[in-house]
Amino acid sequence: MPHAVSSAPLSTGLLARVARLPKVDLHFHMAGTLRPATLARLASKYDLPLPRPVETLYTYRDFYDFIDVLRIAAQAVRSSEDFECVAYEAVEDAARSSNARHVEMSFNPQYFMPTGVAYRVQVEGLAAGLQAAQRDFGCSGLLIASLDRGLPLDSAERAMDDIVGLRSDTVVGVGLDGPEREGPPAKFAALFQRAGRAGLRRTAHVCEDNQTLEEAPPTNVDACIELLGCDRLDHGYNLLASDDALRRARGRGVYFCVCGVTSVVRRQRQRIEGVKRMVDAGLPVTLNTDDPAMFHTDLAHSYATVLEGCGWGWEQARAFSLAGVDACWLDEPARRALRAEFEREIAALEGTPAATQ
Ligand SMILES: [Zn+2]
Repeated sequence: MPHAVSSAPLSTGLLARVARLPKVDLHFHMAGTLRPATLARLASKYDLPLPRPVETLYTYRDFYDFIDVLRIAAQAVRSSEDFECVAYEAVEDAARSSNARHVEMSFNPQYFMPTGVAYRVQVEGLAAGLQAAQRDFGCSGLLIASLDRGLPLDSAERAMDDIVGLRSDTVVGVGLDGPEREGPPAKFAALFQRAGRAGLRRTAHVCEDNQTLEEAPPTNVDACIELLGCDRLDHGYNLLASDDALRRARGRGVYFCVCGVTSVVRRQRQRIEGVKRMVDAGLPVTLNTDDPAMFHTDLAHSYATVLEGCGWGWEQARAFSLAGVDACWLDEPARRALRAEFEREIAALEGTPAATQ
């Protein structure tokens, strides 16, 4: 496991139990889930050159090399069948490796504008893939249409026209990603309020640890909640720099969807410490994968990496698992049913009688 930052390795028994723990992934990106072989197949289908052989495709020289591969992935997914295949394989990999039972996958409609792929084609393909994967692997899936703050605002506006114009039961929310230095939350307030009026849930990447405190200050968390109407946030580590902002965030009870593995190996220790401090500070935290295939991780690996790095055991693994259910955007009856299912399975794993419902 390339990113392990172990202080005390988990026992084989605990690792096996953590792998079998039912899990939810609320923060990962479609482009980051492509299997290398699938990306190679699609690149060849559309005559897109790859920088190196498939075996080393996800071994990056540096961050910019990673971004180049991500761009190729965005160009290589074009037809409804391509989107369906990618969504299906993402859920298959999460379910098989980690016992994922519900996922909420972000995709960026703007990435497919240059190749002229209609929003409807993206959503129909992804929804078909999620549906087929639910049938085959017992893992439900929803979609989050995410805007890239690094792209021009008029492109985000066009994407939002599509998102609110073609409402789908599968697209339950909108997100905001890309480097925070490219655009503070306030820049997207009108667009997010429009999404809210259309009944969409809202999340945003905020205070990520690859941004400085000037680029992503703790007050951005307040802005995401107050101006964008977010009821969930992605990352959030820079919030730890301000006791006041931390206290306000805790009072609001907004879930932070953190990720245990980062693309930048030298930042991995800092990432683990950030997750530990957020949990210790009493923030509601769920654990997720971000770009699982491209970062060589999965949910079980992310859990193991964080538990190992923080010196935590089974109790915290269970807390992350149930927090994922509590923070998910399934409708309330489905969310309650999923929680009951998780509680039963966790009790069975612990060898104790299931709690009465
Ligand atoms: Zn992310």
